[in-house]
Amino acid sequence: MYKEAFDLQKKYFAQHLQNGSINDRIKKLKKIKDWMKKNQELICDEMYKDFSKGKEEVMLTEIKPVVDEIKHNIAHLHSWSKPKQVSSSLAFFGSRSKVIYEPKGVTMIIAPWNYPFNLCVGPLISAIAAGNTAIIKPSENTPHTANLIERMMEELFPEGEVKVFQGDYTVSQELLKLPFNHIFFTGSPQVGKIIMKAAAEHLTSVTLELGGRNPLVVDETANIKDAAQKIIWGKFLNCGQTCISINYIYVHESKAKKLEEELVKQLNVLYPKGSEDYTHVVNANHFKRLTDLIDESKKEGLDFITGGESNPETNRIEPTIIKNVTTDSAVFQEEIFGPILPILTYTNLDNVIEVINDVEKPLALYIFSRSRKNQEKIINHTSAGATGINDTTIHFAHTELPFGGSNHSGIGKAHGEYGFQEFSNQRAVLKQRVGLTSPKMIYPPYTGFKKKVIKFLTWNVG
Ligand code: NAD
Repeated sequence: MYKEAFDLQKKYFAQHLQNGSINDRIKKLKKIKDWMKKNQELICDEMYKDFSKGKEEVMLTEIKPVVDEIKHNIAHLHSWSKPKQVSSSLAFFGSRSKVIYEPKGVTMIIAPWNYPFNLCVGPLISAIAAGNTAIIKPSENTPHTANLIERMMEELFPEGEVKVFQGDYTVSQELLKLPFNHIFFTGSPQVGKIIMKAAAEHLTSVTLELGGRNPLVVDETANIKDAAQKIIWGKFLNCGQTCISINYIYVHESKAKKLEEELVKQLNVLYPKGSEDYTHVVNANHFKRLTDLIDESKKEGLDFITGGESNPETNRIEPTIIKNVTTDSAVFQEEIFGPILPILTYTNLDNVIEVINDVEKPLALYIFSRSRKNQEKIINHTSAGATGINDTTIHFAHTELPFGGSNHSGIGKAHGEYGFQEFSNQRAVLKQRVGLTSPKMIYPPYTGFKKKVIKFLTWNVG
């Protein structure tokens, strides 16, 4: 079944897409946008069934970023896909060279559950914009949204162009046996390694959008009220189930008390008790993982500033903020991916930088500071997929910025022109004149004169 779908796409690609026009791709992107506009209520309803994600959050984090991505692609696709002429040195005298962007071919998109619509359809926009076919494997943990995506693709595309296969990891594993031209995977670093190993078998190129432990530093110069507002929003959006969510805060000791007070105040403003705007944990497994972490933190005697309560019937865990955390605490050891916010304190920024560098490179690193010196110090001495200064999370929505990690947090970049390039092969084309050319002058045998020319070309031309 998978092999047939793959072969069908391979054939479709050769017949319809390999030499397809940019206007055709733009038409398809518009069709996706129109479908989304017509079915926005349905997208919200299905996602609510999956994990009680409220309508406004779906509009803001699942629909708007994809619509923005489509508009951005439509506006720039002609220019991104135009062959780029490059200049030539004297050694290439008489020839002309350019880079053309050709579609890679048959691609696969494997998506996680935490932004189940955005992270399936977002990469598809880049795949289509670059002229590819796509097989999509949505997450099994959000089945209502996965069903909807399958119906959406059936309505919009022939199977030869886009096909959805639903199911758990066994489906991905079968699909991974096929020689895709590119795989775009979003998920955990653990599974990312499995994907990369399988891709290596066919030397398939990969984009790996992974996760990790994202630090946030609040220094002694930060505006604490402003920081607290933005931290509460960024952390508890989607119930903390966000790859660029804050995994731990390091606050300067002189500001720790004020930050704790402000976080609680802002939490009561943004997500008052019982708030309907607050998303739930996706399923019982993740609920157990997170409540075990809360229990462990209680056992360790950590101080809960707020939260800690949960309801297994609804998979709701109240926003939980824990202080006096250390790098030995259980809550510090893994990607939390849920509504638990640990706070550590510091007096010396060098120690914070050391801890950040001891953990694998994060997908996002946030700095709240009014000191340019501190901002630059942190940026210059650490590495991360992205850095937000005095804000969290919103860089995801910036269509001109590359989105992706570094090593453990990912390989390759998504969004806008970066996503287009990820799904394209940058093919070098050099057109030589017929007859006498510069290289011919130095073909062997290497006589005394040619030796001189080679020496001249090596050191004096270029
Ligand atoms: P996951 O890695 O468990 O699953 C992702 C996808 O891979 C799913 O479709 C799943 O069916 C499939 N899969 C699972 N095990 C597999 C296996 N052994 N072989 C092949 N395929 C397999 O991730 P998740 O729990 O769905 O999502 C959470 C993770 O994703 C977090 O680590 C988070 O940080 C990361 N994430 C990253 C981004 C990003 O853009 N960088 C965005 C969202 C989530």
